[in-house]
Amino acid sequence: MLAYTYVGPGRFALQEKPVPVLKDSHDALVRVTLGSICTSDLHIKHGSVPRAVPGITVGHEMVGIVEQVGKDVTAVQPGDRVTVNVETFCGECFFCKNGYVNNCEDPDGGWALGCRIDGGQAEYVRVPHANQGLNRIPEGVSDEQALFVGDILATGFWAARISEIKQDDTVLIIGAGPTGICTLLCVMLKHPRHIIVCEKSEERIRFIREHYPDVLITRPDECKEFVRKNSAHGGADVVIEVAGVDDTFRMAWECARPNAVVTVVALYEQAQVLPLPDMYGKNLTFKTGGVDGCDCEEILRLIADGRIDTTPLITHSFPLSEIEEAYRIFENHLDGVIKVAIKNS
Ligand SMILES: [Zn+2]
Ligand SMILES: [Zn+2]
Repeated sequence: MLAYTYVGPGRFALQEKPVPVLKDSHDALVRVTLGSICTSDLHIKHGSVPRAVPGITVGHEMVGIVEQVGKDVTAVQPGDRVTVNVETFCGECFFCKNGYVNNCEDPDGGWALGCRIDGGQAEYVRVPHANQGLNRIPEGVSDEQALFVGDILATGFWAARISEIKQDDTVLIIGAGPTGICTLLCVMLKHPRHIIVCEKSEERIRFIREHYPDVLITRPDECKEFVRKNSAHGGADVVIEVAGVDDTFRMAWECARPNAVVTVVALYEQAQVLPLPDMYGKNLTFKTGGVDGCDCEEILRLIADGRIDTTPLITHSFPLSEIEEAYRIFENHLDGVIKVAIKNS
């Protein structure tokens, strides 16, 4: 089968590999029907994910059809259409039982697919702990509608869930990339009084204006003032920082009102400074880290009910055989790309 492979720092290549086989009674084999490329794949390519293992097939955003299951897999059966979770988790350890599946203690726990073990930019993928990692796609929901459930949409859903959003709140979301937009969609489900998105790219601003006209938009240089004017208590009640570039961490806590919740979803390439003397008395609550992707069933239900629609994010589509070109466009932000879909016939 064809598999897009992390050859070594700076280099991915489309290679011919054998179809994966089940290794454990909790494994499932999934035929990938639709996949995508994530910014984290680019982090692997650029060598900033040290735990990524050269030789592995990359890709951790995909949907497909179950081909084969181990004898202890009960949640799905061959023929089921499924979403694949970016995280593999055992469902039994302390962290899993508390919903903190990102920190699952299993050797395959956390983000393993397409990083430490073979992922889904391929024709087939072996999914460990399939009872937890696969969710059946409801009748009437297309592959395109379900594509982001296991990764960026799970991230947005988790960010909105942990941010303690109330109806009178002004919520500031910093960054309107794909994960920022997924976060926006999930924040909208909470119906806060104002949602403000801070973004500098004109293309992304246009996208938000076109698809979500009720959302307020500001640019980084005017963000603090704009938030102050559009909130009741001198700053945002909730800030969700998704951008992860220079200065956005500082912007996040500066735009927050005293006693606000600041949720940091972003993955920074550099260490950030927490200037405690400057924020003394502001009494902020910071929440940080990687998604606990354990709400996929609920997210799929919301999609089936028409309450979340991420299909506008798919701006480009390529067959797996042309994945190099898909990467070129995604990596270089060409042609107004937001997300690409990789199709297997
Ligand atoms: Zn990802
Ligand atoms: Zn676990």
